[in-house]
Amino acid sequence: MQTTIGGSGSVLVHQYIGGRLRRARGGETQAVIDPATGRTLVLADLADPADVDEAVAAARRAFPEWSRATPGERSAALHRLAVLLDERSEDLARTESTQTGKPIRLSAGFDVPGTVDNVAFFAGAARHLEGKAQAEYSADHASAIRREAIGVVGSIAPWNYPLQMAGWKILPAIAAGNTIVLKPAEITPLTALMFAQACTEAGIPDGVVNVVTGTGPVAGEALMSHPDVNMVSFTGSTAVGKRIAQLASQTVKRVHLELGGKAPFVVFDDADLEAAIHGAVAGSLINSGQDCTAATRAYVHRSLFDDFVDGVAELFAKVRLGDPFDHATDLGPLSSHRHRDRVAAHVERARSQGAKAVVGGEVPTELRGTPWAEGAYYRPTLITGASQDSEIVREEIFDPVLVALPFDGDDEAIRLANDTPFGLAASAWTKDLVRAHRASRDIKAGCVWINDHIPIVSEMPHGGFKQSGYGKDMSAYSLEEYTQVKHVMHDVTGNARKAWHRTVFTL
Ligand code: NAD
Repeated sequence: MQTTIGGSGSVLVHQYIGGRLRRARGGETQAVIDPATGRTLVLADLADPADVDEAVAAARRAFPEWSRATPGERSAALHRLAVLLDERSEDLARTESTQTGKPIRLSAGFDVPGTVDNVAFFAGAARHLEGKAQAEYSADHASAIRREAIGVVGSIAPWNYPLQMAGWKILPAIAAGNTIVLKPAEITPLTALMFAQACTEAGIPDGVVNVVTGTGPVAGEALMSHPDVNMVSFTGSTAVGKRIAQLASQTVKRVHLELGGKAPFVVFDDADLEAAIHGAVAGSLINSGQDCTAATRAYVHRSLFDDFVDGVAELFAKVRLGDPFDHATDLGPLSSHRHRDRVAAHVERARSQGAKAVVGGEVPTELRGTPWAEGAYYRPTLITGASQDSEIVREEIFDPVLVALPFDGDDEAIRLANDTPFGLAASAWTKDLVRAHRASRDIKAGCVWINDHIPIVSEMPHGGFKQSGYGKDMSAYSLEEYTQVKHVMHDVTGNARKAWHRTVFTL
């Protein structure tokens, strides 16, 4: 039996528990499929609740030592991890592109360097956890704050950015002294396992980082409701997030939810039209649109609407689909055939309700006769004529589909931008400083870009408003989320009979 991961053929992928790769107990497996070709890459173990128990027990055993390691020691291990991942960047990018179908240009230019930068950031941030300085708030006492690790964190990640999501979950948790059990999405477990193995090689003690590969309803629910897990951190859809909040409430775990989005892209009448058109193409098609912050609803001032639609349609039609490993390819497949069919059904329903696909709205035909003919591809699609209350405007679909809608006034644009249950990200396109400030104040989202859409940096937080969840990933804010604050109060009088005792008894 091979234990290599990231390979191809009938290799079996295992759990990573207590610093070792090991078989799941039940012996069940699931194929990991290359969505660009439809071919099986590897078989991955499916964890059952007994595997989750073992992983949580390993994390629990590792907690006392890791939580007492000095920030400097944790930081040094994370620095070594950054170097190791950087050395393996080609392998990581190749594996990420193979299991997700995303173009190698994206894996090698964004996913992997973004993850390495994140590791480097948390290596530094681990030494900068802050609280209030010790001070005297009562005449008779000195108060101090201890910022402590929470314990064992159970995390669940989605399939769209498997490596980055593993980093976003694991790094702040362990930098703050917690231990973790991560369940990656069952269809993309490979790079999370590579990340966990690299943690061990970097000197992070066994059991600090564990990975269980399994399904949401079985391994995921077992992890989220496990009595020995102190905090749960989930990135995925709003529907599953609600279920996780319910499960976690049984033992009052701390809950961190990064959920769905339906980002508005607001183009005011003074915008640089060329910038907005290019921004809309990149912002809606990144990762085949399977990005929780992707531009999905373009609200464009009526005076620019037709030109905007023509410009985006022209570029969408030129986007090159095909082999993810060809550096000329712009758009890879969707993550699975099931998801592609779901996207196609959404577009069909929008059409049946009177919307129009100006470009796209179909499975591409040019890949017939190539090795990518069976891939889960879908053409970049620009929709007009949809109504604000239609499914394609309101629901997250996670696809290379942009809906464009006209507006007449600034207030109307902001109202439409806010008119969904989501609030993860948004952008406003204008040269007017006052308008830009108003949009950033009035749009209810965790991130508002001005004259751009998508870029992220390790130093700044990512997280939602409204039903996009609560809690922040990346940045020092996320470190705080993975700690709990303890007040320690010292008597400074040395008196056996304290003044305040008189309010209770006078003997
Ligand atoms: P999903 O919610 O279907 O699955 C996410 C993860 O949850 C997977 O690992 C899955 O196995 C697990 N899961 C499913 N059912 C579960 C259950 N009952 N109990 C426990 N775990 C369960 O989402 P997805 O389709 O993998 O990913 C796409 C979603 O993720 C989109 O909604 C997207 O917006 C969201 N997302 C959000 C962010 C963010 O930062 N806000 C980032 C990336 C993706």
